Order: sequence, then structure tokens, then C-alpha cells
Amino acid sequence: MLQLEITPVEQWLGTNDKPIIISGPCSAESEVQLINTAKELAALNKIHLFRAGIWKPRTRPNSFNGVGEKGLGWLRTVKEETGLLVTTEVANRKHVELCLKYGIDILWIGARTSANPFSVQEIADVLRGTDIPVLVKNPVNPDFQLWLGALERINNAGITKLAAIHRGFSSFEPTPFRNSPMWELPIELKTKCQSLPVFCDPSHIAGSRDLIQMISQKAIDLDMNGLMIESHINPQKALSDSKQQLTPSSLNRILNSLIIRKADSNNKEFTDKLELLRNMIDNIDEEVIQKLSARMEIAEKIGEYKKQNHVTILQINRWDKIINQRINMGAAMGLSKEFLGDFLRLIHKESIRKQTEIMNAITEKAG
Ligand code: PEP
Ligand code: MN
Repeated sequence: MLQLEITPVEQWLGTNDKPIIISGPCSAESEVQLINTAKELAALNKIHLFRAGIWKPRTRPNSFNGVGEKGLGWLRTVKEETGLLVTTEVANRKHVELCLKYGIDILWIGARTSANPFSVQEIADVLRGTDIPVLVKNPVNPDFQLWLGALERINNAGITKLAAIHRGFSSFEPTPFRNSPMWELPIELKTKCQSLPVFCDPSHIAGSRDLIQMISQKAIDLDMNGLMIESHINPQKALSDSKQQLTPSSLNRILNSLIIRKADSNNKEFTDKLELLRNMIDNIDEEVIQKLSARMEIAEKIGEYKKQNHVTILQINRWDKIINQRINMGAAMGLSKEFLGDFLRLIHKESIRKQTEIMNAITEKAG
């Protein structure tokens, strides 16, 4: 169990609601856009915290980089006019100092920043002696220790009003998501540090509006404390992340559609645990399928390569060696030799079938 010292989120957000809902545009673009979005969101009576990026970490240069300091003034106006608490992303000492000066309620550390211990430490150093709550997004790469390290650095600076945000991870393999959820990482975090609130950011996992409902439901089923969902008064015209932002009214529809299990169910503890375990199984199955597909693609490439070099598909010596190594490795990890042998032989059979298809295809073309 991890020794983070955490102040319960109910105390610093002033609500017992679950899930907690954080929403607002990816970026503050103009005062009108910001205030109008905030007013529509406030009118839903479901939003606990208003978000907007002022400094935007863009992948490519010459993209919209955020409006900078003047956006902090707009956020202050949002707070005055709607009563919503406000949060923005910080990536360095200067950002933090300005946010403190403008009375921003809560800070968040973005995925690119939490991947860099120098930056996180710089932020932690300037936060020392303050009491402002901080939300730490997972680093872009699926490195659990790095995420934990970022949370620890902020916590070691005396910030106990702390939460994590799961926003998915970059992955080399194609997935339906902009950032692969890899749910086992936030689950590991919740398991290792039970007092730490963990929010989910379905917008940056999805990358598109149509997946947000499904991801939000999954996050709630996994007992996440809340959701951070991007919303914009006119998503099509948004200067960043336009494909994934929702209008406040579509956000409302999604929030209304979510099934939130009743806290007073007799068997809640049992059903929660069961649901958690089933979700873990679902996620692992998804990953196994993705890996199998990647493996088959490589087998096809090998087939082509062998054909070009006049090598036979089957090289018995290599396969014998591989299957024994794999079976022994699996046995050391608690898998039965018989099961793993059957499984590997099945995969191998399918690889051979694919390679044969490739050989025949090429031969036909050549003929
Ligand atoms: C954002 O919240 O708009 C953002 C830039 O997120 P992330 O750091 O998760 O990419
Ligand atoms: Mn965004």
C-alpha cells in the first residue's frame, strides 16, 4: 500500500456527489466562448469544476498555443459569474505563480508534463507552502512508476488535496482510441493507493465524440471518482481537439444516460468487486486480441520475406526451440504446460496458414 497523504476529495470540492464532473473547453479561445460555455454548463447543475487550457502543449509547432495569461482573467470572470470552481493546466513555475496570483482554484498537470520529472519537481517546488489542489494526469507513455512518481513529488511538497486523472496512453499498435485506455494502470493505482481519488478523462482517451459515452460508463463501472469531459459552445469551430468536444447539451444527454449503481444496494460490495474483476478480464481480452492481430501481421511479413529469399515456410528447428522456451516461461508464471502448448500450436498453425496464403498469392501473381 502506498503512503500518500490525501485529504478526502469531498472536503476540497465541497460535494459528496459521485461521479464528480469536470467539464469545459479544451482551450480558452475568447472571453465570450469561455463565459457562454461555462454558463450553459452551470445551468445543467451537474458540473463540479470548470476546466479550460490556457497554455496548450501542442504536438506540432504552428498550432494554436493557447491564449496565455489573459485567459486567467477570463477564468476569474467565469468563477464570479457562475460560481463554478475553475481549473487549468500548468507546466512550469511561471504558470503556477500566475494561477496562484489569479486565484485559480485547482491546477492540473498534463500528460506531457507528468512524463518529465524535472518539470514535475519544478512545479512541486513552487507549490510548497500552498494549499491548492492538484490533479495529475497519467504520463503519455504507459509507465506506472512515472505516474506514481509525479503524484509523490507533488505530495512530498505538502499538497494533500491530490487526485489522479486517467487520460489513456500512447500506443504503437492501432487501437480504436486516440489514447489506449489500458485500464489496468488506473486500477493498479486505485488498488495501491485507496485514498487517492482517480478521475477518468474520456475525451482524450476517445479522440472522438462517439466513444465518450462508452468510456464514461466503463470508468463509472470501475468505480472511478469522476469524469473530465471536454465541452465547447461550438465544437466544430474549436481551435484544439475539435473532434472530441461536446456541446453542453450533448454532455447533458451523456451524463443522463450513465448508469450509476445505487449506493444502497444490499450486495454493493460484492457486485462492485465482481464488476471490477469482469472489467479487468474484458480489458485483458481486448489486449490479447490486439496482440494476436499484431502477431499475425508480422507472420505475414515473414511469409513474404521468406518467399523472396526462397526459404521454406516451416523451419522445424526454430519452432521446436521456441515452443519449449515459451512453455517453460509460461509454466514459471503459473500456466499449465498442456494449455500453453495447445494455445501456441494453434497460433502457429494459423501463422502457417497465413504464410501459405501469402506464398500462393505471390506465386499466382508471379505466374
Ligand atoms: C487537455 O486536457 O486538453 C490536455 C492537453 O490533456 P492531456 O495532457 O491529457 O493531453
Ligand atoms: Mn484537449
